[in-house]
Amino acid sequence: MDDCTFCKIVKGEIPCQKVYEDDHYLAFLDIKPLSPGHTLLIPKDHYRWVYDVPNFGQYWEVARDLALKLKDQHQAKFISFLTLGDEVPHAHIHLIPKYQSSQP
Ligand SMILES: [Zn+2]
Repeated sequence: MDDCTFCKIVKGEIPCQKVYEDDHYLAFLDIKPLSPGHTLLIPKDHYRWVYDVPNFGQYWEVARDLALKLKDQHQAKFISFLTLGDEVPHAHIHLIPKYQSSQP
C-alpha cells in the first residue's frame, strides 16, 4: 500500500531501528516506546489486521522467538504482547519489555 507507513519502512523509504528481519517479517523499535526495547513485529507484505496474515501461527512463532531474545537482551522481567491494530493500518504485534510487575 503506497500510503502505508509500515510499507514505507519495509521498502526503506522511512528509516527504522531494525531489531530483526527475515524473508517475511520485520521488527523495529517503536518510535514512541512504552518501555526501553519496545518493538513492533510486522509482516513485510501489507495486511490490515494481524488475523489477516497468512501463516498466522508462524507469525506468532517469530514473535515468541523475538520476545525471548528481547527478554535476554534487555534483561526484562517479561515481555508483553499487544495487538491493538488501530494506530497504523498494517498488521503489527507490539512486544513490550516489562521491567517491574507494577508497569502497565
Ligand atoms: Zn502496509
